[in-house]
Amino acid sequence: MLSRLKTDFQLSIITLLGIAAFLGITPFVVLWFVQGNIVAGIVDILILVCIAGGMLFAWITGETRRVGFVIAWAVCLGAVAAGAVGSADFFWLYPCLMVSFFLVGPRAAVLVSLSAIVTAITIRSDGFRSLDHLWSFFTTTVMTCICAYVFAVRNEYHRKNLELLATVDPLTGVKNRRSMDEGLQMALADALRTNRSYGLVMMDLDHFKRINDEYGHSVGDEVLLDLVSLIQKRIRNTDQLYRYGGEEFVLLLSGVDPDGLGLIARNLHKIIRQQLRLRCHDSKITASFGAALLRRNESAEAWLERADAALYEAKRSGRDRIVFSGAVPAQDTSSPVGSSGLAN
Ligand code: GH3
Ligand code: MG
Ligand code: MG
Repeated sequence: MLSRLKTDFQLSIITLLGIAAFLGITPFVVLWFVQGNIVAGIVDILILVCIAGGMLFAWITGETRRVGFVIAWAVCLGAVAAGAVGSADFFWLYPCLMVSFFLVGPRAAVLVSLSAIVTAITIRSDGFRSLDHLWSFFTTTVMTCICAYVFAVRNEYHRKNLELLATVDPLTGVKNRRSMDEGLQMALADALRTNRSYGLVMMDLDHFKRINDEYGHSVGDEVLLDLVSLIQKRIRNTDQLYRYGGEEFVLLLSGVDPDGLGLIARNLHKIIRQQLRLRCHDSKITASFGAALLRRNESAEAWLERADAALYEAKRSGRDRIVFSGAVPAQDTSSPVGSSGLAN
């Protein structure tokens, strides 16, 4: 339970709001009923029910986006209703406007907030003591929204940047190993649900260390960029390329049968052999490949291990080749290079 609160920001905000609302609003419910203001008491109870219901729904389903939206509307319009029927003016609207910027995106929060402000002015137009009073209400609520909006936009920008840093390899721009773990889990779940077949191709440049040693690290970096560009031009939108580490990459392919996996691996092998060159020197660069189709009920670790073992075998048996885990797919006769299988 605590781990969900730590990892799911929206859920933690909804939960925090639920607890704060319960502690903050409940005494007023009692007060309204004691004072005989039944309508105000019922409005507060409805707000509490809405927040508690949303919180429960979010915990059960994990659906926090829509719940956040519903709660944002409920608390803002609830605060307006409470202000209209209670004796505390619209003081509750201020925290509710702020909260809406935590619950939904900045633009949606502006829509919710402005609707609440306009509704408040419309239903209480005769309740403001003077034009000054009305104008003060309008400017202070709008100022609150502007500050919350600026804060929310900056927050969203930083969150996106952090997400990018955590999931994308800064040199090549492809997704990193952390994203790969998520990608594999999603592939496993999809394979179970839809029976779609998935394949992994693990590739590693041959003798890459020599390139770094002879021409320098920046030339090595250029080779990595050229490799990524070559691969990305030849894969489908549904395929995912990950940098596994160093000069090792993993390609996750969806909807491939054994022959399709063989075709893609052999094509990449051929293209790298034919087109990957040092920019400063016309020397050939090759890569070794390990390929594995996902087996029924296999774990991500076991699948990755099979691809890794196949790659290891490709290196061990001389590099510049493909080794398939299991049966070797039918070979395209135009392919200039051979491949073999690893029986496990
Ligand atoms: P093998 O054929 O067995 O794969 O040999 P190798 O030399 O390619 O493999 P090894 O693991 O010995 O060396 C990998 C090298 O990759 C060592 C490391 O300095 C280099 N490397 C790792 N990350 C980067 C990077 O981001 N840029 C550059 N230029 N080099 C990198
Ligand atoms: Mg290598
Ligand atoms: Mg390596």
